Amino acid sequence: MSREIFSPPSLNLEKNLLSRLEEYSKEYTEYSTKTEPIRRRLVTSTRQYLFELIKQLSPQVLPAKSKLRFHEEPLKKPSSSSISCSRLTLNSPLNHVKGISKKISAKLMVFGIFLVKDLLEYYPRDYIDYSSLLQIKELKEGESATLVASVRRCSCFKSPRNRNLSILELQLYDQTGRIRVTRFFAGRRFSNSTYIHKQTRLYPSGATVAVSGMVKNSKYGITFTDPLIEVLESKQSKIKSKSIGRLLPIYSLTEGLSASNLRDIIEVVLPLAKQWPDFLSKECLSIHSLITKSEAITAIHNPYNQIAMNEARRRLVFDEFLILQLSLLRRRLKLRQSSSPPLSISWESDGLVARFLKLLPFTFTNAQRRVLVEIEADLSKPEPMLRLVQGDVGSGKTVVAIAALLNAVQSGWQGAFMAPTEVLANQHYKTLCKWLTHLHVTVELLTGSTTSKQRGIILNDLSNGSLKILVGTHALIEDSVSFLRLGLVVVDEQHRFGVHQRNRLLSKGLQPHLLTMTATPIPRTLALSLHGDLDVSQIDELPPNRTPIKTNLLSGAERDDAYHLIREEVKKGQRAYFVLPLVEESEKLDLRSAIEVHKQLTEEVFPEFVVGLLHGRMKSADKQSAINDFVLGKSQILVSTTVVEVGVDVPEATVMVIDHADRFGLAQLHQLRGRVGRGAKTSYCLLINDSRNDLAKHRLEVLVNSNDGFEIAEIDLRLRGPGQVLGTRQSGLPDFALASLIKDQAVLEEAREEAVQILKLDPELTKNLPLRKIIDEHWVRLMGAATLN
Ligand code: ADP
Ligand code: MG
Repeated sequence: MSREIFSPPSLNLEKNLLSRLEEYSKEYTEYSTKTEPIRRRLVTSTRQYLFELIKQLSPQVLPAKSKLRFHEEPLKKPSSSSISCSRLTLNSPLNHVKGISKKISAKLMVFGIFLVKDLLEYYPRDYIDYSSLLQIKELKEGESATLVASVRRCSCFKSPRNRNLSILELQLYDQTGRIRVTRFFAGRRFSNSTYIHKQTRLYPSGATVAVSGMVKNSKYGITFTDPLIEVLESKQSKIKSKSIGRLLPIYSLTEGLSASNLRDIIEVVLPLAKQWPDFLSKECLSIHSLITKSEAITAIHNPYNQIAMNEARRRLVFDEFLILQLSLLRRRLKLRQSSSPPLSISWESDGLVARFLKLLPFTFTNAQRRVLVEIEADLSKPEPMLRLVQGDVGSGKTVVAIAALLNAVQSGWQGAFMAPTEVLANQHYKTLCKWLTHLHVTVELLTGSTTSKQRGIILNDLSNGSLKILVGTHALIEDSVSFLRLGLVVVDEQHRFGVHQRNRLLSKGLQPHLLTMTATPIPRTLALSLHGDLDVSQIDELPPNRTPIKTNLLSGAERDDAYHLIREEVKKGQRAYFVLPLVEESEKLDLRSAIEVHKQLTEEVFPEFVVGLLHGRMKSADKQSAINDFVLGKSQILVSTTVVEVGVDVPEATVMVIDHADRFGLAQLHQLRGRVGRGAKTSYCLLINDSRNDLAKHRLEVLVNSNDGFEIAEIDLRLRGPGQVLGTRQSGLPDFALASLIKDQAVLEEAREEAVQILKLDPELTKNLPLRKIIDEHWVRLMGAATLN
């Protein structure tokens, strides 16, 4: 330490300063010999001294720049609107508002904007920021800014090329430089000589003007694109314009309404925002540093600056999240209130679960063990479990689910295991049969293609209780299926089901425990918004001895390389998937289809091998036999659509080729890739990218560089937004007017906490009826959206 102090590279420290540091340094060499109070004093005084030193040495803060001054109230004639506003309320129809014409209110109605409050909740989609006041030298191309400068010269003239166009040209200066600013006026009325003359007189030399606009680079140097200009009496005088120097709101335009139309009518009703009631208490506002609702609504439409806009936005985003979280948590409370079968968990070594674990040829990973304990703790409670298990592809969720089901059977209840596709239901059925026959537990499969005779037998056994576990597709949730004692429902790959289907299952009689599983790890913001009513367990560890999958990006011209790799691997006894986005040729899209590629691979490329075909439009029995052949090795290559995306488990498969990979989402590609790498051999994933789009390539490279499902999902969310990531099935995701699941994560966490707090004190919201009303309405909307699937 002392060496560093004595050879300061560039600091010119005063002499006495150096000697003080030297003293300190000496005292610290004897530090260990000193008593505790002396040590404490030494540290305190050193810190104090260092703090002073920092203050001495840090560069002087420059004086603040001059600021624009605004008229606080928009300058208006004492207009009729502010008078008539006094009689209006937030619930007044817009056609009662003076200043909004019949024609305009009719147009707004088309967009569901009927009342004053609807219009106030029509938030700006963006802002143009004129609030940064710059000097000429500081202007940068591509940024919007405001400039206050003096007029050097002004001329206004008719365009030599267009008789209906006049041009105003101002030459301005400030201490830092000069700039030429031009405005164009199109239209005959602007090109008569009186108008032109008037313009010139508006800007005499020496006058001060404020100019707001987007900065661009022209052949005359830096200038503005069609700026707003206001003459000021002096540099200090206030700006009257509602646009110059401000954040100018931009609204998503509706047919026949211009941007300034919308700004004008919103300005008419904006004073009414003061009446907006606040459903949050003063205390809550101060805890979360939020402004009031009425302040927020006012400021979101008319912010004085960026800070005000951010504060307004934060409050409104908080509300959006809070309402969603309250809805989800209340739903959870309601479900929790219903009683459910308390399962007695047996830890005995001759219990079903223990015997099952012994049968397995491997031991559970720590993560699997931990999650099973979490599940068992839930199962033994008299309230229903609502748990989501997230685990990357191949993390071994199925065996955990089986153990959970055996817990139910052990204590005398039945279990249901629901999968999104027949292929997967079949596979689970086989897995269960493999273990459960040894344990003498009955299990059956019910899907859309179960014969009616078989179905009759199954339903009978189910209702008399002799059938313990039923595996199937959503055929399980049909009304005719009734269990004698349903204790636990497992939903595999639950992201493939709509929220609605999950609810339907839960409404079957006595509340069974619910275990949902997903291999599409979704970022926490999405998880909270979608499954805020569930507890989440994480299997964050892969079983040992998995060799990482090698992923490569190929261009369409390099397809032969893929064929080559497939041939090499198949010769070694391995198998390969070849995945395509479409079943058949499409006229619109220039993509190779599964049927076409299957034909080509069979006849031309791999005549020496058996190439199977699997796609969603095949009959169920054909699908099953295609899969079976591939499992048994009767076919070595399987051409498929994304039906193989979820769950399919063939350990001998080591190659996954995905054609037109740019057509798939990242999370989906990661799922597909998860079909290989299930054995100990090295596996390969080849992504064929035909698109010339740079973004597509950049997206696919994420997959080449990462094997981590969570990381990939985060990036996918950033690149494509939540709607795309979840796909259309999950329209259970609410529409937010302002909130962004990407940017507003921190606000979401706060809102979630507040929602928990509110319900803790007032579970039925009887003390906050306005809030309760909002939430009930919200819930109806949310469920409405989910049923549309
Ligand atoms: P996913 O979580 O994607 O549904 P699966 O449950 O299909 O994964 O498991 C993938 C494979 O890993 C299966 O073949 C399964 O038998 C095997 N497996 C599961 N747990 C373990 C473990 N602890 N050790 C070794 N292999 C395991
Ligand atoms: Mg699975």
